[in-house]
Amino acid sequence: MKKHHGSSSKDSGRTCQITIPTYDHRYDDVYNLVFCNFLALARKAERYNFSPKNGEAARFDHIDFVLKSCSNLSSGLSCPRCHKATIKNFRIKDGRLVPCCGNPKCRSGCPSDELYPLSFDVFTAPAFASSIDMQKQLKQLLREALGLPENPAPDRVYVALKKNYEVSCLTAI
Ligand SMILES: [Zn+2]
Repeated sequence: MKKHHGSSSKDSGRTCQITIPTYDHRYDDVYNLVFCNFLALARKAERYNFSPKNGEAARFDHIDFVLKSCSNLSSGLSCPRCHKATIKNFRIKDGRLVPCCGNPKCRSGCPSDELYPLSFDVFTAPAFASSIDMQKQLKQLLREALGLPENPAPDRVYVALKKNYEVSCLTAI
């Protein structure tokens, strides 16, 4: 699989050892950024890594949890062809994002080197980082994958990511 960004191979070796922070409304801004500006959230994480300030540890725990739980979503989307397999990938076709099933029969015409994982870090891939329209489409796809409504409240984003993280840890065993 062609690597569009740096996370897909790393995530396959997920260790599931992070401590999930308890939901706290003081960190709502972190969960708001997941959908409204994921790139800003990723930049915040970099800054914390390089120069953490006193008293910011709790905030960093929430950012760290978000970044570790929003890869390879175990989506609730089903394949438009076989209606069975859970969609884990998508591709860009004629400027639209098209969900792609893992079943080879459904995959015809969907080359593996064009696949993107259902992960928030796809926002950093060049095709998305530079296009507001693509970011909008990706936002909608990921929101649907997590079963969230439009403009979800921060606590719902937290619950959905927590569930995704727990499910992905169970399936990794
Ligand atoms: Zn299928």
